[in-house]
This record gives sequence, C-alpha cells and structure tokens, in this order.
Amino acid sequence: MDAYIALGSNMGDRELNLLRAVAEIGRLPDCKVTALSSFYETSPVGVTDQPAFYNAVLRLHTAFSPHELLERLLRIETNVFGRARTTHWGPRRIDLDLLLHGAAIISDDRLTVPHPRMSERRFVLQPLCDIAPDLLHPVSGKSIAELLGALTSDETVTRI
Ligand code: ADP
Ligand code: MG
Repeated sequence: MDAYIALGSNMGDRELNLLRAVAEIGRLPDCKVTALSSFYETSPVGVTDQPAFYNAVLRLHTAFSPHELLERLLRIETNVFGRARTTHWGPRRIDLDLLLHGAAIISDDRLTVPHPRMSERRFVLQPLCDIAPDLLHPVSGKSIAELLGALTSDETVTRI
C-alpha cells in the first residue's frame, strides 16, 4: 500500500530533523520510502508567533494498517525527537502527519484519513504535488494539482 506522510519542523536544525525523520520512517519494518519531495520553508499557520517551518512529503510503501502506521509515526515523534504533546500547533522539532493511506477513508477518535486539513494547506499540497500531482483525493475526487491550483491563501512556501 502507498501512504503519504507530511513532515514539518520549526525547532533546532530543521533540515537535519526532516532528514532524520525520513531515515527513521524508512527503517520501519517492511517499509520503503519510494519518493521524497523538495524541502520548503513555510510561514507558520494558526499560531503565527513562532519560527518558520521546514516542510516535506514522502511516499511510503508499507504493509502497516493506517492505525499501526500512525502509532509508529507518533512513536518516532516521541522517542526519537522527544516531543512532549503540549501546545497544539506550537513549535516542534518534528511533526509527522499521515495524509493518505491508499484510498482509505477513516474517521475515529485516534485517526482521520485523509488528513482533514490537507486540502487547504499549501505547505502540504505543494510538496505532495512534487511527487504525486495526478493522485486523486479519495473524498473530493480531485487531483493534488487541481487542489493546489484552487488554493487562494497567501501562505508563503519557498523551495529551499
Ligand atoms: P497537528 O499535527 O494538527 O499539529 P498534533 O500533531 O499535535 O496536531 O496532534 C496529532 C494528533 O492528532 C495525534 O495524537 C493523532 O492521534 C491525531 N491524528 C488524527 N488523525 C491524524 C493524522 N491523519 N495524522 C496525524 N495525526 C492524526
Ligand atoms: Mg501531527
């Protein structure tokens, strides 16, 4: 199954954090990173009084179920990057979001897939469009390139 994962960092060495996270995801059992976007610098959204983010998206070939994969991602956030889950949308060394898992549509108390805010976020759609422009969003049926083209927000997302 192909899953797409968004990575973000705005604390410490942001580039190194993204690279480390790619490596940690790639060494999960029976998982292979099969594509990686460019890295982007992004002005913060939501809580804007914090350092700029680095963002990227990768494609993962995986046998994990969506819930198992999310569990593994949260474990990397906590165990590798020492993330304490305090301020929602606050500064963090790493944030790993499961965007898509095949065509799965799930919404329960632990996991929502497709990620509920991915279609409004340029810092997600721009890197995702690097590696999967023709991929169809399983709910809206629109391609990633179409979703990106439809954005009107003025977020700045700069390829580094
Ligand atoms: P955000 O990523 O929106 O800044 P957090 O990373 O602080 O928020 O919170 C993530 C929480 O959201 C996790 O505890 C997780 O259970 C839940 N969650 C639900 N759906 C997803 C998803 N698709 N990807 C990542 N986390 C998710
Ligand atoms: Mg998250």
